[in-house]
Amino acid sequence: MSAENTPADESTSDGTDDSGAADAAVIVHDRLIDLQRVDTDADQLMHERENSPLRDDLATKSDQLAAWERRRGQMRARIDELTESIEKAEEDGAELTAHRQRLDKQMKTIIAPREAEALTHEMATIDGQRDELDMAEMEALEEQSALDDELAAHLNISESVADAARLADGSLAAAVTEIDGRLSALNTERESIRAEIDSDLLTKYDRVRDALGVAVAELAGRQCLGCHIDLSAAEVDTVKDDAAHIGIAECPQCGRMLIV
Ligand SMILES: [Zn+2]
Repeated sequence: MSAENTPADESTSDGTDDSGAADAAVIVHDRLIDLQRVDTDADQLMHERENSPLRDDLATKSDQLAAWERRRGQMRARIDELTESIEKAEEDGAELTAHRQRLDKQMKTIIAPREAEALTHEMATIDGQRDELDMAEMEALEEQSALDDELAAHLNISESVADAARLADGSLAAAVTEIDGRLSALNTERESIRAEIDSDLLTKYDRVRDALGVAVAELAGRQCLGCHIDLSAAEVDTVKDDAAHIGIAECPQCGRMLIV
C-alpha cells in the first residue's frame, strides 16, 4: 500500500475488496484443512490395510497348515517305505526258509562228517540271517504301527488346522473390504473438496505432499508444526498477512502450506 493512498480510498474500494478476500481466504483455509484431513485419514487407512495384525495371523495359520501338510506327507511316505521293506523281508524270509528246508533234506542224505559239518555251518549262517531279518521286520512293523496311530491323530486335527487358516483368511479379507469401503468414501470426499480448490493451489498442495507427506502445517506461536522451526518475527508477519488475504501462507523453512 503506497503512501499516496488517501484514507478515503482505503475505506471505500479497498474495504469492500478486503472483506471479499477475507471470506475467500476462510474458504481456502477450511478446504485445505479438509483436504489434508482426508488425505491423512486415507494414509492411516492404507497403513492399517498393509500392516494389519490379521496379516501376521494369516501367515501364522498358513504356515501351520503347510507344516501340517508336510508332516502328513512325511508320515505317509515313511509308512509306504516301511510297507515295502516289510514285504521285502517277507520275500527274503520265504527264500531263506525254502533254502533251509532244502539243506535239511540234504542233511538226511549225507554220510561224510566233513560235508555234514559244512552243511551245519551253512544252516547256522541261514538261521543267523533269518534272525536278523525277523528282527528288522519286527522293528519296521512297530515303527509302522506307531506311525499309523500318529497319522490317525494327525488326520483328526485336519479340519481344525484348515478351518483356522480359512478363518484367518476370511477375517483379513473382511477387514480389507471394510477399509477399502472407507477409502472409497474418503476418495469421493477428496474429489469434492478438490473441486472447490483453485488448481494452482492444488498443484502446490500435491507437490508439497509428494515431497513431504503432509502438505499443510499449523503455525503455533512462531513455530511451524510441520518442520518445528521457529520463524523470525518478520516471517511471522508475512505469514499472517498472506493467511489473512489468501487463506494460506508458505513456511519459509520447509515450504509447507501454513495455516494460522
Ligand atoms: Zn515449516
